[in-house]
Amino acid sequence: MSDYTQRKAELLNYTKQSYEEALFAGTSGNLSTYDHNDGVMLITPSSVAYATMTIDDIMALRLDGTILEGPHRPSSEWRMHAEIYKSMPEIGSIVHTHSPYATSFAVSNETIPVILIEMIPFLKGDIQVAKFAMPGTAEVGIEAIKILKDRNSCLLANHGTVAVGANLSQAHIRAVYVEDAAKIYSLAKGNGNVVVIPDEYVQIMLERYKK
Ligand SMILES: [Zn+2]
Repeated sequence: MSDYTQRKAELLNYTKQSYEEALFAGTSGNLSTYDHNDGVMLITPSSVAYATMTIDDIMALRLDGTILEGPHRPSSEWRMHAEIYKSMPEIGSIVHTHSPYATSFAVSNETIPVILIEMIPFLKGDIQVAKFAMPGTAEVGIEAIKILKDRNSCLLANHGTVAVGANLSQAHIRAVYVEDAAKIYSLAKGNGNVVVIPDEYVQIMLERYKK
């Protein structure tokens, strides 16, 4: 039995749940979890169908790409995940989705302003767009980190979303709220009028949730 069986099972559960929640389609999107103590990242494999994925499909690797376990190639975005873990010691899990409403704003290169209370405790504010970078390169992570140092999520221009957390439970729920905020913002724009939460209230609530 693998040393990482428990962690792989947890990663697989959140992956299947995210797929059922339509946070990604086909084999797009990817989840990872990283232990800063042993230096091992577990990540979903590239091009394996989520419906039939098992824990034996989950890849274990070091942040330099050295594969420790698993029969596949790791997700093509493993460098983005590695880059975030290298520069953010407080982050232990990453959920990368192509959830459709949020990704539509990534395509428009448009920030989703603070329109819902949930965005403050879960996302630490608005959802900004990281500059476009070539998929599969560390650059994707480097651009995302510029936003993630002050937020729990961001959009990747013309690509998708990233949500981070200390653990999978946090990163996953944040990915869900990114899509929820994007969907509601989109519907409100369709109604014709959007009012954002005034920044003074956002600041007060941010301080409150910090405690
Ligand atoms: Zn992607």
